[in-house]
Amino acid sequence: MKEKQRLFILALDGTPFSLLNRLMDEGVMPNLRELVKTATFRELHSVQPPLSSVAWASFMTGGKPAQHGISGFVEREPRTMDWFVPKADRLKLPTVFQILSDRGKRVFSMNVPLTYPPFKVNGILISGFLNKDIGKGTYPPAVGAFLKAKGYVVDADIEMAKRDLQSFFNELWDVLEKRIEMMWHFYEQEAWDLFMTHIMETDRLHHIFWKYFAHDLPPFAEQFRRFYGRIDALIGKVQQKLSDDMALLMLSDHGFTELKYEVYLNRWLAENGYLYFEQVPPKSLKDLHAFSKAYSLYPGRIFIHLKGREKFGSVNSGVEYERLCQELSGKLLKLRDPQNKPVIKEVRRGYELYGIPPEAGNQMFTDPLRLGIVPDLLALPYKGYDLKGVLWHDRLFDRKVFSGTHTFVDAFVLGKGISIPDSVEAIPDIFKVIQSYFGIGKS
Ligand SMILES: [Zn+2]
Repeated sequence: MKEKQRLFILALDGTPFSLLNRLMDEGVMPNLRELVKTATFRELHSVQPPLSSVAWASFMTGGKPAQHGISGFVEREPRTMDWFVPKADRLKLPTVFQILSDRGKRVFSMNVPLTYPPFKVNGILISGFLNKDIGKGTYPPAVGAFLKAKGYVVDADIEMAKRDLQSFFNELWDVLEKRIEMMWHFYEQEAWDLFMTHIMETDRLHHIFWKYFAHDLPPFAEQFRRFYGRIDALIGKVQQKLSDDMALLMLSDHGFTELKYEVYLNRWLAENGYLYFEQVPPKSLKDLHAFSKAYSLYPGRIFIHLKGREKFGSVNSGVEYERLCQELSGKLLKLRDPQNKPVIKEVRRGYELYGIPPEAGNQMFTDPLRLGIVPDLLALPYKGYDLKGVLWHDRLFDRKVFSGTHTFVDAFVLGKGISIPDSVEAIPDIFKVIQSYFGIGKS
C-alpha cells in the first residue's frame, strides 16, 4: 500500500450523526454502512453559535469566533450601528486551503461556506454560501464562467419552499446532481492533494422537510429517504474512486432537530422594557432608541446598549452593566413557550464560548468595551427553539415553513486512512486533523 498523501473531504451540511445511524439501520444507506465497518465514525460537536458561516470558518482555521472573526450571518458595527454580512474577507486567520497552498500542495475546494469572495489558492476554489453569482465566485475566474455555462448554481432557492414544496424538493435534487456532476469533472481533470466538496442541500432539506421525516408524513418522508439514498450512492462512488494513496474525511458542521418554535428575542426585549425604537417597525439597528438597554442578533446573541461602545449607548460599564446582564439572564431562564415549556437552557457570557478576542491582548478580556464581535450574553436554547434576531416581529413565538433547526450536538465525523484522535471533540479540532495528515504543525 502506498503512503497516504492525498485527502478527499466530503462535507454534508447539517447532517446529524443520529440521522445517519437511523438511515443505515433502515437500509437507506448501504454504502455508508459498509464504509463505517473500516472507518472511524463518531459524533462531533459544532461551535457556538452552530451556524454554517461560523462552523465552517472554524473548520478552515481551527479558531473560535473571536479568533477567526466570524460570529454569525449578520454582524454590527457598534460605533455606527450599521449591520453587515461578514464574508471571507473578514477572516482573521489563514484557511487550511491557503496554508496547504503555501506549502505547494494542490487544492480543490467546492462550495465550502465562507469562501466568498474567493481567495487565491494553488488550484481551484469555487466559493459557496453567501455568494449569489457563481460567475463571479471562483479562483481562477475562468472556472466561474465555465460553471455558469454548465448551469451550476451555488444554492437552491429556499424562497421557493414558501410557494411549493414539491418544486423546492425537485430544485434541491437538481442542484445536488449538478454539483456532483461538476465535482467529478474536476476530480478527473485536476491534479490535487486536497479535494473538498461541500453539499449544502442536506441542510436545506432538513430545514424544510424535517417534520415529514420525523413523523413519517407522506409524500416527503419517502422523498427525504430517497435524497439520502442519492447521498449514499455518492458515498459509494467516492469509495470506489479512493486509491491507496488517498484518505477520506467526511463531516457535518452541526446537528438538526425538529423546530418547536421560532422565538423572536427582540420582541421579548421590547415587551420587557429593554428595547425601544425611533420608529415602528424599525428599518435597521439605526432605529434603536437611546433608551434601549439591549438588542439581539441571530441566534441568541444579546448585546448590551453600552455607553462608549454603541453609538447612542445608555448603559454604563461596571455595576450597571453587570446588574443588567444578571437581570436579563435570570428573566430569560424563566421564558416559557405556549405549551409552558422552558425555552432557554443556559445564558452564558459571550467570551466564555467565543474564545478570547485577540484585540483584548493581555488586558482583562471581560472588559465589555473590548469585546468586539463577542456578544455580551449568549442565550442557549433547549432543543428545537430557533432564537431569531429580526428586530420586529408581531409575536414572540411563531412557526412558518421551516420545520427543522440546528443543534450544537450531533454533528458527525468519519475518517478512513486518516487519524482522528480521541481529543477531537468539535469542528474547530478538525483543522488540526488535516494539518497533521499533511505533516504540518504539532500533531
Ligand atoms: Zn441551516
